[in-house]
Amino acid sequence: MNAQVSPDRSQLAAGFLSATHKLFINGEWVEARSGKTFDVVNPATGKLIAKVAAGDAADIDAAVQAARKAFESGPWPSMPPSGRAKLMWKLAEAFEAAGEEVAVLETLDNGMPFTMSRFVAVNGVAECLRYFAGWAGKINGETPTISAPDHHVYTLREPVGVVGAIVPWNFPLAMAVSKIAPALAVGCTVVLKPAELTPLTAIRLGQLIQQVGFPPGVVNIVTGYGDPAGKALVDHPGVDKISFTGSTVVGKSIVAGAAGNLKRVALELGGKSPVIIFPDADLERATQGAADGIFRNAGQVCVAGSRLYIHEKVFDRVVAGVVERAKKLKVGPGIEPTTQMGPLVSQKQLDRVTGYVDSGREQGAEVVVGGARVTTQGQGEGERGGYFMQPTVLAQTNRDMRVVREEIFGPVVCAMPINDEDLDRIARVANDTDYGLSSNIWTRDISVAHKLAKKIRAGMVRINGGMGLDYALPFGGYKQSGWGRENGREGAEAYTEVKSISVAL
Ligand code: NDP
Repeated sequence: MNAQVSPDRSQLAAGFLSATHKLFINGEWVEARSGKTFDVVNPATGKLIAKVAAGDAADIDAAVQAARKAFESGPWPSMPPSGRAKLMWKLAEAFEAAGEEVAVLETLDNGMPFTMSRFVAVNGVAECLRYFAGWAGKINGETPTISAPDHHVYTLREPVGVVGAIVPWNFPLAMAVSKIAPALAVGCTVVLKPAELTPLTAIRLGQLIQQVGFPPGVVNIVTGYGDPAGKALVDHPGVDKISFTGSTVVGKSIVAGAAGNLKRVALELGGKSPVIIFPDADLERATQGAADGIFRNAGQVCVAGSRLYIHEKVFDRVVAGVVERAKKLKVGPGIEPTTQMGPLVSQKQLDRVTGYVDSGREQGAEVVVGGARVTTQGQGEGERGGYFMQPTVLAQTNRDMRVVREEIFGPVVCAMPINDEDLDRIARVANDTDYGLSSNIWTRDISVAHKLAKKIRAGMVRINGGMGLDYALPFGGYKQSGWGRENGREGAEAYTEVKSISVAL
């Protein structure tokens, strides 16, 4: 990886940023029917960087109609799987060719360090497209053995139809493609509603989709606000499935909204993931893992390890190690080559995170390090600065505090000692949350690791820093962390319906 970013690299995106961007509907770029636009702000400076069309219910309706047409009478579901896969590979190549520029856009829009956007926004996205292109001809029905004699039966797996994909701002492009790629592979068509805070790479995605020659209407992209645009997509009777990633609160409203035509719903929601460190763990790696797990992307990660349970024998040592790493972390604009942690995505998110730290203080937590906004160096008189937050470690926290119970979505970790060897009791502590997305265990004892892994109610258990994301590995949550799984075979099958066909012989 080339971690060095030349200071003028942001110029790569200058052409894109100077244009006012439209909606991508039926293979064409069109203005919002209302003529309205909204501002896109760079979270590292608080300054306007682009203007984007503000789609609403009328635009969503046009996009859904285009997607329906492409599904019902267009070429997409009837195209041979190899044809769909070929286009997906072409799109992956187009992303790689535009890699630097796309990564710059993601960094300017979301704030994440450039190296992260290069890896996640571009390389990861190309990988995701190729992975799911591979499933295009491999999602099959079965020939079950039934009890009745003289019958031939089989099942088909058919595309679910028009998919509404609603994605958040924390990994904007990766989230969009992780929904679009499996949907396209199995023959669905898509209407994508990106987060209003981070619409730029979704627009670039639309440009590349057009460039590589996807048929009109197969993917439609409507930038706009959650309400009206996202809500209209959820309510629309022409949509067969909503695939949503975001907050648990909005996830619940989507379930209610989808009741109209009982559309299918997949939800990838929040988390409050535990990290459990045993005294026999490789403490150097565990400490680094704990710090990375909460400070990466400024903690705006659904699987962030935000509840840190450390055995009392090593508590002070591990906390000191995480604090030391927090102090050394270079916080700054993601576009700068030395930045390790960028800003939070918005003023609202900064207020939310500092508000949580304040609530922790009020409820008796100790701020061991951090706890406040970082003011931008060189911030001019009268200028708004970026939304930078200090990496923060809280101690003296307990299960009744909001900082321990609620998803903060910022670089704030609650360190708590455990003094137990009983795995059932440790699991009860780890499971003492409404969420169940991810979890982390650090120990050299494989028996402890696997026994505890079974007891934890979460969609993912990472042992000694195990794999966070691989497109082959199912991803999703127990409890209020969501419904369904993304990635792997499950992730592709989630965009299908099963049909049973029986023949009397
Ligand atoms: P939201 O859940 O509000 O946003 C996610 C997506 O849903 C965005 O595209 C949003 O649009 C859209 N949306 C919002 N309201 C509706 C609606 N009524 N119907 C349909 N779509 C809607 O997340 P926030 O941006 O408000 O973040 C708030 C908190 O949510 C964070 O602090 C964090 O705790 C959590 N979160 C969790 C994520 C995860 O990956 N688990 C990701 C993002 C946030 P718009 O952007 O225009 O509002």
